[in-house]
Amino acid sequence: MNREVRVRFAPSPTGPLHIGGVRTALYNYLFARQHGGKMILRIEDTDSQRFVPGAEDYINEALAWLGIGIDEGVREGGPYGPYKQSERRDIYREHVRMLLDAGMAYIAFDSPAELDAARAATPNFQYDASTRMQMRNSLTLPADQVDSLIAQGTQYVVRFKVDAGRAVEVNDLIRGKVVIKSDILDDKVLYKSADDLPTYHLANIVDDHLMKISHVIRGEEWLPSAPLHVLLYEAFGWADTMPDFVHLPLLLKPDGKGKLSKRDGDRLGFPVFPLLWKDPVSGAISRGYREDGYLPQAVVNFLALLGWNPGDDTEIMSMQELIDRFSLAHCSRAGAKFAYEKGTWFNHQYLQTLPDSRLAELFRPVLAEHGVNPSDFSDDYITRAVGLVKSRVNFVRDLWDAARFFFMAPEEYEAKSVKKRWSADTPAIMEGLIGVLESLPDFSAAAAEPPVLAWIADNGYHLGNVMNAFRLTVVGECKGPHMFDITELLGRSETIARIRRGIETIQRPAES
Ligand code: GLU
Repeated sequence: MNREVRVRFAPSPTGPLHIGGVRTALYNYLFARQHGGKMILRIEDTDSQRFVPGAEDYINEALAWLGIGIDEGVREGGPYGPYKQSERRDIYREHVRMLLDAGMAYIAFDSPAELDAARAATPNFQYDASTRMQMRNSLTLPADQVDSLIAQGTQYVVRFKVDAGRAVEVNDLIRGKVVIKSDILDDKVLYKSADDLPTYHLANIVDDHLMKISHVIRGEEWLPSAPLHVLLYEAFGWADTMPDFVHLPLLLKPDGKGKLSKRDGDRLGFPVFPLLWKDPVSGAISRGYREDGYLPQAVVNFLALLGWNPGDDTEIMSMQELIDRFSLAHCSRAGAKFAYEKGTWFNHQYLQTLPDSRLAELFRPVLAEHGVNPSDFSDDYITRAVGLVKSRVNFVRDLWDAARFFFMAPEEYEAKSVKKRWSADTPAIMEGLIGVLESLPDFSAAAAEPPVLAWIADNGYHLGNVMNAFRLTVVGECKGPHMFDITELLGRSETIARIRRGIETIQRPAES
């Protein structure tokens, strides 16, 4: 059947969106865009016990930051709203009634104590075809008693009546046909009178149907619910418009076995949330990719490759390339190891693609944090400084360590290099170097380098020792970009002042 592609991302606002949820949203988005379809954001907030204030805004902000666009949703509106389940109670009530009237569901009054007793009495108790006739429900109680219990305000649930002995087929576009025996399913609760709300299963199916969802793309953890969802589609008589299912592989720990958890992030030092999250109750902070300094394009590219590959070894892909190349045929069944170092690598790559002027803009607040007033330096100066060091960093904040000497003369000199490169005759050689630098008609890197190298050679100096001593006075340590690029940017007088200061202050450690 060729129908309009309509997919949904359906998070429950029970806390910060996990990075696995972000990947699910991304794959839905890529699939929708590739097929010219619609991406729907549905907020599944029917579990009032687990509702967390701020979680919905967090979801919106995270998707917007990553560039995952939404066509229909709570904010965007659309023809099938409302898109927030707590605003759809009437719809669910009506659908629960349809199942009850058709004899596909029944009302159950069993109290928690009664359910505990049943569990204690029967090993592996399950509320299903083999036990339901021993329980207190509308199948076992006379109709007038059911009515009077409800009239008295007795709390009840509505359960789905799962027939025994059926083979339920779930057609998954990644996993193929998965067949499950209905006997292992229990009579799932679809609705609770206590809060007048449906459970996830009922609301999810009703909404997928009413919102004309064509493909249900979600995490593998929902695969066990799929047979029940298939049965619900049938019970409502909607089997011919049932969406295709796609259960995405789990995200696994970077090391060892099992599902990625927040604890792995804490243990190994990486975020498992897109944005920083402050728990509204405990105030506890969870790190986020955005606040940790990742570029959204890097996060998108990194996540896209966790569970999918383009069929060749291309790694760097823009959102548009991902949209063009995404395919379910190249999604894996096996879980994807969350190789977080790869995320750092992607960030490095994307950082290199930013114009230096943009990097300079991002770097200004970092300068300020380190006590440098960015307005003491021209835009051009900061831009050139970051341009010289960017290939050495993964994050904007790392530009400080790599470029600080452009903004502050060294206050100390790395001891190891002093020991190795600063000998008794170095001060005199550095005086000579100052003379050469003072005499240069042009202080640009290209013009300054040849005469300095010639002077070193003519005097029979050791090239490495002289250049490293020079670097030590200017940078404070023996690393950094090309020496003459540094001096060109610092300018003649600052360069010479730093050499003089080095001559005055660098002390060779006493020989031991
Ligand atoms: N509300 C569910 C969640 O939190 C949706 C699962 C589904 O996509 O069916 O992930």
